[in-house]
Amino acid sequence: MKKLNILFAASECTPFIKTGGLADVAGSLPSYVNTANYEMRIVMPKYSALPKKYVDKMEYMCNFYVPLGWRNQYCGLFKLKIGKVTYYFLDNEYYFHRGQLYGEFDDGERFAFFAKAVCEAILHMDFEPDILHCNDWHTALAPVFLREFYREPEKTRNIKTIFTIHNIKFQGMFSSVLLSDVLGLWGTPAAWQLLSDDHTVNYMLGALAYSDRITTVSPGYAEEICSWYYGEGLDFILRKRKDILSGILNGIDTKFYDPAKDDALVCNYDLESLDKKKENKLALQKETGLSVSEEVPMFSLISRLTEQKGLDLVTYILPHVCERNMQLVILGIGDAKYEEAFRYYADRHPDKIAFLPKFDEALSHRIYAASDAFLMPSRFEPCGLSQMMSMRYATLPIVRETGGLKDSVTPYNKYTGEGTGFSFANFNAHELLGAVDEALTLWFNDKKAWRHLMENAASADFSWKASAKEYRELYRNLV
Ligand code: ADP
Repeated sequence: MKKLNILFAASECTPFIKTGGLADVAGSLPSYVNTANYEMRIVMPKYSALPKKYVDKMEYMCNFYVPLGWRNQYCGLFKLKIGKVTYYFLDNEYYFHRGQLYGEFDDGERFAFFAKAVCEAILHMDFEPDILHCNDWHTALAPVFLREFYREPEKTRNIKTIFTIHNIKFQGMFSSVLLSDVLGLWGTPAAWQLLSDDHTVNYMLGALAYSDRITTVSPGYAEEICSWYYGEGLDFILRKRKDILSGILNGIDTKFYDPAKDDALVCNYDLESLDKKKENKLALQKETGLSVSEEVPMFSLISRLTEQKGLDLVTYILPHVCERNMQLVILGIGDAKYEEAFRYYADRHPDKIAFLPKFDEALSHRIYAASDAFLMPSRFEPCGLSQMMSMRYATLPIVRETGGLKDSVTPYNKYTGEGTGFSFANFNAHELLGAVDEALTLWFNDKKAWRHLMENAASADFSWKASAKEYRELYRNLV
């Protein structure tokens, strides 16, 4: 069998830098894909915020110039190997020496540069990719550039492209001025038409039009995004290209998220010693100023605070939460309106509600371990990793039945006792409250059934094993 080389382009990757689930995927997929006949390497920007301990170990390979419209921009190529995975870093201080990863005034230009630099870097790498696997809008122009500008060189001529949608809400839409000024596509009217309407250029639309395969991160979301409600204006092209669209559920790094070995926890536990989990609850109650008691169920929410995550529903039920015998720990930063609402209730009910407005990886692990139930009532959810992490820590998720949440959580069935969590169908606060009450009733009245659900959740397989096999099949079928 011919060995396949896959270059995986992403704008963030653990353990280097992370703002969300994409980094988790990029950080864990390669070590599962890499087997005797497959080698996946990662390419990402060399942000100034990368931890020094990694930067110090990087090997400088070479530098080259990247044509970008009328510009010719410097790019340094660095390499780092950790375990069996090789990472490439693309260096340009003008674009990547910034305070934040995204949200800069010139993101359109910064990530057009990154996508073009990925194509150009292939010519200089000690690696010959058969497949370029791009992810989300930050890398969406690479399949476009590869076809339009890199058809000549032998090394890039036959590369096949895959584009994975991690979140269709963020498409990379900018003024169509960029088409010629930055993207340099003035000589290719066909490309203009594929990427833009009169006023905007849409990077993700480009990837959807140009890539050889399109995937997304759960089978459920692959179906949903072909509809008007979930398609965010791109459903028309997804319906047109449905024959090359598929969904592969993400996994989590089960070594990193392992309650038996996790250094962040106050008390480690596994399936055989689930009773020890409560030590983490008592410790977190002390840490956050909640009233300290085993006898009150602790719910939690760890999330970017954005509309997508169903936080309007959470805000709506908060007065009811305060009336119930339960606690709620919220870890997250984001939209001011949610931060304000959570702070308001946490200030008034410090024994019941704790709001921790920060991004803190170790604390998130302590919360997954400490809680009894985890709220994830998303409006839409491409895959979602947090619900898998909570199940891994024997914490039962309460989810809305959408996208990857529906694909990964089996709702409690009171007749058979099966399930790994609780769910509700419609985007409606009363339905969320109904699911919370269902969980509360079970927690207080049927400890045995709750324990059974904890065991089911903690023993469910969310490792990358099965999904990595699906990716390997996808790669093999493509070349
Ligand atoms: P998304 O990628 O849409 O943000 P996911 O559920 O796929 O959602 O992944 C979210 C990841 O980010 C999880 O690993 C979750 O634990 C982590 N996370 C979210 N907010 C925080 C936070 N404030 N502190 C620490 N980790 C967080």
